[in-house]
Amino acid sequence: MATIHNLGFPRIGAKRELKFALEFYWKGESSREELKSIGASLRQRHWAAQSSLDLVPVGDFAFYDQVLDMSFTLGNLPERVWDFHGDQLDNYFRVARGRSAKSAEEHASCCGGVAAGEMTKWFDTNYHYIVPEFNADTTFKLDASRLLEQLAEAKAQGVKAKPVIIGPVTYLSIGKAKDDSDKLALLERLLPVYTELLETLAAQGVEWVQIDEPILVTELDDTWKDAFETAYTYFKSIKVKLLLATYFGQLLENRELVASLPVAGVHVDAINGRDDIASLLALLPADKIVSLGVINGRNIWKTDLNTVLDWVEPLAQQLGERLWIAPSCSLLHVPVDLDSEQRLDTEIKSWLAFAIQKLDELKVLATALRNGRAAVKAELDANQAAINARRNSPRVNNPAVKAALGELDAKLGKRKSPYAQRAAKQSVSLNLPKYPTTTIGSFPQTADIRQARSYFKAGTLDEAAYKAAMQREIERSVREQEALGLDVLVHGEAERNDMVEYFGEQLEGYAFSQFGWVQSYGSRCVKPPILFGDISRPQPMTVEWIKYAQSLTSKPMKGMLTGPVTILNWSFVRDDQPRSVSCYQLALAIRQEVLDLEKAGVHVIQIDEAALREGLPLRKSQWKEYLDWAVESFRITANGVEDDTQIHTHMCYSEFNDIIASIADMDADVITIETSRSDMELLDAFDNFNYPNEIGPGVYDIHSPNIPSEEHIVQLMRKAAERIPAERLWVNPDCGLKTRQWAEVIPALTNMVAAAKVLRSGQ
Ligand code: GLN
Ligand code: ZN
Repeated sequence: MATIHNLGFPRIGAKRELKFALEFYWKGESSREELKSIGASLRQRHWAAQSSLDLVPVGDFAFYDQVLDMSFTLGNLPERVWDFHGDQLDNYFRVARGRSAKSAEEHASCCGGVAAGEMTKWFDTNYHYIVPEFNADTTFKLDASRLLEQLAEAKAQGVKAKPVIIGPVTYLSIGKAKDDSDKLALLERLLPVYTELLETLAAQGVEWVQIDEPILVTELDDTWKDAFETAYTYFKSIKVKLLLATYFGQLLENRELVASLPVAGVHVDAINGRDDIASLLALLPADKIVSLGVINGRNIWKTDLNTVLDWVEPLAQQLGERLWIAPSCSLLHVPVDLDSEQRLDTEIKSWLAFAIQKLDELKVLATALRNGRAAVKAELDANQAAINARRNSPRVNNPAVKAALGELDAKLGKRKSPYAQRAAKQSVSLNLPKYPTTTIGSFPQTADIRQARSYFKAGTLDEAAYKAAMQREIERSVREQEALGLDVLVHGEAERNDMVEYFGEQLEGYAFSQFGWVQSYGSRCVKPPILFGDISRPQPMTVEWIKYAQSLTSKPMKGMLTGPVTILNWSFVRDDQPRSVSCYQLALAIRQEVLDLEKAGVHVIQIDEAALREGLPLRKSQWKEYLDWAVESFRITANGVEDDTQIHTHMCYSEFNDIIASIADMDADVITIETSRSDMELLDAFDNFNYPNEIGPGVYDIHSPNIPSEEHIVQLMRKAAERIPAERLWVNPDCGLKTRQWAEVIPALTNMVAAAKVLRSGQ
């Protein structure tokens, strides 16, 4: 009873072995064979870690991205890489990164660099995939070699393999038709290739294939629903059994569709979608497997096992052999192994579970279902003790924070006067020229800065010396900005390692892991801080630095903070209260910082909300609810200030069409956005909405080492002025400059300031 399985395992390695192996290889410091052998040993280790499961995922490993792997399996490579004569793996990296290791010398005759494939977020996770490219002529051709190789390795290791592939409808849906042709028209060509793939796996003795169709948790129009019917009816007589896997949310209105597809089993997310399950079960034919994702694959908390059993035991009675259990989604989105953590506070550690621990939980659940809870009494008791300890811990519960939250009222989020009146006052007090110039916050994080920080962390540099080193950097930034002639200065963020971690480290209610890495894309990983308790701010976090910076100049100094929504969206968050509650707590804490900055004489304050858009739910019907609390959180943070304090916000993108009303609702006096690469067309959203406040559309692409020319900046700003009245325009880069060199920043900003002068003179 109760087959247990897993949908995918983190591939990066407990100590990020894959990251380092990839980067070595790309730098030309290791051979392809070495890289491949590290891949194989990671797979081997990860399968061993899953050996207690009845079915183990195979094919979830990818050197860069599982979607790109699928594109290779389907023979869908962009035309620009067709002429490559080298090793397939190098061509794979060319699509991923625009170049292969050593390709410049090895393949000088056949290929230079190519445009990298576009990257975008995998549903609502922080994982980014390489977008499949299509056009009306796209054809497909099976290359099952990667999957077969991994399957053979797994078999040799005695693994009970369940190959994992991305389903055809999701594959088409997450790709992009470069010529705007109808992607769905390709389904007809795609299905025979999938069939061949599935038959090939069947011929290898595979019994089950997990076919991932996460778009089933999103709103689908009829053509996409039909595509599901067409596809899965096409697979009807295939010899392997298909487990149709859905995750990241609820099926809702897609339940009937899912239940009607002729597959052998269905996996559903029982964390987000528990309410779906009773009605899904009622709809499903009685011979189908139901796999319930009962362990959260998106967070790092221990599962409350007894509560899960209370819910699943009756289902197990009802379903018998038909019930499978698993994590809700692939464990790609959680770190590998909690046992690696040596420095994490032991109390907090006792509340957590990473991938390996989640699989242990699965095993306990299965044993309890098969043999009764008594068979795993010790494990269940220990789990219950941890759950209770977390629930009741004074470190999680701060009555003062809860009381403050109880007193939230609409007034907190409202400025004293409307924008027009504030703008008039700010124009007198700040006395800025037309087309004021500023930057987004960070200046280059030089080797000296990084070294000082790491010595300070290691204890070899004392606090006074560290502070002096950072003050020298701040002074340097201020002097450079004065020399450049910028109008609103920043302190440069030298003291910050990361815009979220810096605040998390100073807030009560946050913990940090050493190895809690999660793959973001390719070799890039992030280590989200862990928001575990009620959030409070024991003392000011930025005031001393900004005050110091302001003391060095008579120009206005812009205080620099990260907003509550971004801190929330880039953290592992609590599962014991709604996200909105955690966000309001963050808002109240950062509001205090805003007010303290104002009290210290800082009258321009920027609150970055780089990740606001990222938090949008997968279903449009749920956007409003999110946007309401996200915007209100920002307003609570920002809007307690006097009229003559100017609030800025910054967002690293420019797709505002569908959220422009909410952005306007935030009511920041100035918003800076990323527009330099879009030729200002993306300002149309603001124009069409008659966005009322000031805007700084980025004119300097900070992702590129290129120096924008004065003429180019003038030209971009003129385009901006066709859409937004010049009185409300600022001149600034797309984003912070921390990843650039001073040698690039100085000429770029020189041109930017010169361009502003040209614009002012109206030439
Ligand atoms: N103030 C931050 C910086 O300049 C903003 C970074 C971001 O938006 N990602 O680096
Ligand atoms: Zn940015």
